[in-house]
Amino acid sequence: MSLSILITVDTELWCNGWKSLDACFPDALKKYIYGKTPSGEYGLPFLLRVLKDNELKATFFVEPLFALRFGPDSLAEIVGTILDAGQSVELHLHTEWVDEAKLPLFPEVNEKRQHIRYFSYDEQVVLLDKASELLRLAGAPKLHAFRAGNFGANFDTLRALSTSNIGIDSSYNSNQPACEIDLNPPIYQAEIVRDILEVPMTIFRDGIGRQRPMQITACSLGELIAILNHAFQEKWQHLVLLTHSAEMLNDSKTRKSSVVVGRFVKFCEYLSKNNERFTTIDFRSPRLRPVDGEFSQLHCGALPTLTRLVEQAWGRLP
Ligand SMILES: [Zn+2]
Repeated sequence: MSLSILITVDTELWCNGWKSLDACFPDALKKYIYGKTPSGEYGLPFLLRVLKDNELKATFFVEPLFALRFGPDSLAEIVGTILDAGQSVELHLHTEWVDEAKLPLFPEVNEKRQHIRYFSYDEQVVLLDKASELLRLAGAPKLHAFRAGNFGANFDTLRALSTSNIGIDSSYNSNQPACEIDLNPPIYQAEIVRDILEVPMTIFRDGIGRQRPMQITACSLGELIAILNHAFQEKWQHLVLLTHSAEMLNDSKTRKSSVVVGRFVKFCEYLSKNNERFTTIDFRSPRLRPVDGEFSQLHCGALPTLTRLVEQAWGRLP
């Protein structure tokens, strides 16, 4: 049985602060969604093309609350671009947008609340329903899965997902302090938690003993491949990889990051060439179900981690 890989792309935009939002929006859309740089587009168009070239599936967790400020057209364009490329759309939610809505969702909220867990259970239901409606109006089919912005969910979030008929959560991140889905012992594979199928973000121990998320910018190619192979040997059922719509760009989003672009392409090629062992799936797959058995944290050797440290130092050079 091959190992299922969930490639997840948190698809969101930011305006570099909260002043002059309306003036900044067109540029934010170009940079954070389409990844526009002087040398080409390295956001959605690039990610979708690499996935297609390698016949891989991915899930785009799309953040829709920005449309409460800027209107529905850009959200519909984003959803259409993803669906036209044959990939799936699920729900991501950054509550930082709540107080920026043209028509307030909660008139009493007029300050930034960074995480969904800062809202009550009832408010979280309203947020999930509103966000789902925005995605549906933008053309998305039935939603199956959710990921909280910043992984900032709590147990009320799981209860609210159940009420809002979204059966899968991927907000559990044992390495992220914002996540208050506190499970002891931690889980590594999908389990039912409060009536929701919780699919944990894959966290591993790197070659110098630190916790790392399985995220394209956070790992060297060697680390990513080592974790894939370790999980396969240990008979894991699935892994969750994270990237973002603008993750192929440098920190200031002014140009592509050649190191990250090369890493993503080679990672996808590796999955494609080894498709007898690794199968990419999305959150609609029947392969995604609770996993029985005891699992311990994945880890990799020192060499791939040292490679990353060199790459990161190189990336910081001007
Ligand atoms: Zn996000």
